[in-house]
Amino acid sequence: MNRPLNDGKGTMALNETILARLRKAAGPNGWLETPQEIEPYILEQRGYYRGACDFVARPASTEAVAAVVSICAQEGIPITPQSGNTGLMGGGVPNGGIVLSLSRLNRVREVDRLNYTMTVEAGCILADIQAAAKDADCLFPLSLGAEGSCQIGGNLSTNAGGVNVLRYGNARDLVLGLEVVLPDGRIWNGLRGLRKDNTGYDLKQLFVGAEGTLGIITAAVLKLFPYPKSKETAMAAAGNLQDILTLFMRIRNCFGETLTAFEFMPRLAIDIVTRHIPDTADPFDEPYPHYALIELSSARADETLRDALETALGAALEDGTILNAVVASSEAQTNGLWRLRETIPEAEKKEGASIKHDVAVPVSKVIEFLDRAATIARSIEPDIRLVSFGHLGDGNIHFNLSQPLGMSAEDYLAHRHEISRQVLDLVVSLGGSFSAEHGIGRQKRKELNLYKSEVEKDLMQSLKHTLDPAGIMNPGKVVNAEE
Ligand code: FAD
Repeated sequence: MNRPLNDGKGTMALNETILARLRKAAGPNGWLETPQEIEPYILEQRGYYRGACDFVARPASTEAVAAVVSICAQEGIPITPQSGNTGLMGGGVPNGGIVLSLSRLNRVREVDRLNYTMTVEAGCILADIQAAAKDADCLFPLSLGAEGSCQIGGNLSTNAGGVNVLRYGNARDLVLGLEVVLPDGRIWNGLRGLRKDNTGYDLKQLFVGAEGTLGIITAAVLKLFPYPKSKETAMAAAGNLQDILTLFMRIRNCFGETLTAFEFMPRLAIDIVTRHIPDTADPFDEPYPHYALIELSSARADETLRDALETALGAALEDGTILNAVVASSEAQTNGLWRLRETIPEAEKKEGASIKHDVAVPVSKVIEFLDRAATIARSIEPDIRLVSFGHLGDGNIHFNLSQPLGMSAEDYLAHRHEISRQVLDLVVSLGGSFSAEHGIGRQKRKELNLYKSEVEKDLMQSLKHTLDPAGIMNPGKVVNAEE
């Protein structure tokens, strides 16, 4: 039977001898230890979690990461890997021991245009990777709201999604090789840039989405794609969600892989964004119940793409599937349409308290999920306001529920557990996922325990024990039962 995992609590403060060894291993300028220096590393950026640690290691090479981890392995010191600290599940917040920040491991080691790969260190900021790819006339397609500060090690460790999943997949689909420091301090060099490699277990995928519980990703070989030479963005409006879904099927059939994003949002999202976010405007003169944001992109300088999109939308208008549509005619207009979508979370925050669910169901169950989940929410709080939006093409819905007008945030949030439990029960009953994009971290351990099968949980625990028998890697996250 597996023994209980280290939960990172109750670890003693590090003594001066160990601290001296850690400083030496982390290298010059490679550590922080005053409370002021440590503060940003123990605080989740939105302030939802505050942790504790005695030492922040900031090594600048894989060898230095390995040297620090070896000491922690010998001494049983918990390690919390941290990249940009933008994760939303509290996974990067330490429960004691040390934080191992990857920020100084930030070199692009190689861009191989012929192999269509780039080799980057884990602390490279996502936007810098996109820019380095663009400099080589290539595309690294992972794109999400936090791209200016999140780092690729964190993106891989959370298997981040974002707006281009429909065409290019999640972070998991974009990686060909990894370099990992294992919990005993050994370095696994799996930096292979191969599209074909059937030589046993696909070890790299164990570390993708593991949220730092199995080892520390120090570098990765990423896939590159042709940089799009043409791009078209449109907003369509419809009277009901079924019509938005019909439009999605048609556009997908028509454009295949050229369809890069298909996002949906309700009228209330447009209302709150235009109310709270500067430089945003209603896309149409009159309001409609539902909207879809569509993006097509092609590696060819394809002047016919716009015509083809206008034709497809024109046909949908003619047969009444949609009620209005606009194709952006300038970069400013394109940015304006995307701004409406991307600032929904910020606008929600300004609108008041929200009860949020980052869930996925098969695309064929989206309508059923949204109908039944709305009924559940309204049966508990009749005046609840639905702001369900997201990546419709992936079946990934941010099923967010805004505070009723006139109700206090406190009274509203008192319903949180009741609503969320019933919504997540529904998601799981429809074959869906209770955490589509953001992982488990600290926040979703209870749900993992509740919704994963015993077999799945046992396999996860076995893997954890095999790779990290002392339980020093990011204790209290993902596989640990809730505190
Ligand atoms: P961190 O927050 O530092 O770490 C995340 C987890 O990974 C932690 O458990 C940490 O211990 C572990 N970890 C970090 N680095 C390593 C490493 N090198 N080796 C092993 N473990 C490591 N997510 C989406 O999927 N799609 C979105 O569209 C999206 N939009 C977002 C928008 C905003 C504004 C914000 C704030 C977040 C968004 N996210 C989204 C959340 C997303 O998961 C994170 O932004 C990002 O992927 C995490 O990267 P990070 O560098 O900040 O990692």
